[in-house]
Amino acid sequence: MINASDLVREEVLRLAPYNSGLTLREVNQRYAPAKIAKLGSNENPLGPSPDLDSIITAGPDLIRLYPDPAGVELRNAIAVALDVPLAKIILGNGSEELISIISRAVLRPKDRVVTLYPSFPLHEDYATLMGATVDRINIKDDMSIDVEAFEKAIATPARMVIFSNPMNPVGCWLSPAELTRAIAAADKNTLIVVDEAYAEYAAGDDYVSAVDLLKGSDRPWVALRTMSKAYGLAGLRIGYGVVGDPEFRSLLDRVRTPFNVNAIAQVSAVTALADRQHLQRVVILAVSERQRMEAFLFGNGWQVAPSKGNFLFFDCAGNAADFAEGLLRQGVIVKPWKQAGFETFVRVSIGAPDENNQFMSAVLSLK
Ligand SMILES: *Cc1c(COP(=O)(O)O)cnc(C)c1O
Repeated sequence: MINASDLVREEVLRLAPYNSGLTLREVNQRYAPAKIAKLGSNENPLGPSPDLDSIITAGPDLIRLYPDPAGVELRNAIAVALDVPLAKIILGNGSEELISIISRAVLRPKDRVVTLYPSFPLHEDYATLMGATVDRINIKDDMSIDVEAFEKAIATPARMVIFSNPMNPVGCWLSPAELTRAIAAADKNTLIVVDEAYAEYAAGDDYVSAVDLLKGSDRPWVALRTMSKAYGLAGLRIGYGVVGDPEFRSLLDRVRTPFNVNAIAQVSAVTALADRQHLQRVVILAVSERQRMEAFLFGNGWQVAPSKGNFLFFDCAGNAADFAEGLLRQGVIVKPWKQAGFETFVRVSIGAPDENNQFMSAVLSLK
């Protein structure tokens, strides 16, 4: 019988399994803690808008019938909210799927892809799968983005530059001036993909979305957003992209499966986008709790990266996997980072106040 590893493309063997962390069920089986604080996946402690309650119990037709393959109602709501034409919006089964669609559509073997490092692993994985080579631009010792090195790297032609802003896992970001400069420095044929999964948390002072900067530009670009984080819909799997060129968007459409976004996700996203008040509650809580957690981690003498996301990235000054296991025993799930050079780093999501308290007391008990 042929070995499974001979059956797959060589690129598949180069991929590491996704580090998704433990589910609630797995943690319960392993340690049966009295209470679990799930702070490993940047989920939203307040959940979605209460306006969604009626959708979840709504008409069976949402389930019986195929969804709108063009997702027109939702794309229209997004287009209006961002003030861009409907033809520039594409929907994904999570923004992860859009990273996959874009990578499959554009990357050829040996293409060069540039990203920031430590990275969101999927930015690299789909590139690797397509046979591209990934050029990583490391953050600086003070855990800020090395803007000069980044500009230099993207001035050299590449097929694609893909990075998150704010950056996951670190939390740091490119200021409006830095993002403007980086875009100006980038080779004009290189596709720029800015993953803005945390844009809603970052909005305001010292942050600008690539959508606003690139709206009128005719260079190739895509901005990715998700409904999984600030809108609290992670379980429904829905994200979207703003694609600079509508023609490019329609080519990307050919790569996705026709019914990639399910009906409940589409309807829920429309409702969630409309509830600005809930979004504001979510962001205000995340920012104030983030400040409290950041002060605590600093107080422990640890290096913590500045963050505009709903998470913090810090150096626990020891083996991060052991540290995370110590917290897990007390019901606290965090994400020990596994990429080379960052094995002492941990990413903790900002949860509800009682979850954050549970995290902080668990940390103190390990000292
Ligand atoms: C969480 C996250 C995503 C995933 O979003 P989905 O829409 O749930 O697939 C994408 N990019 C980054 C940087 C993220 O942190």
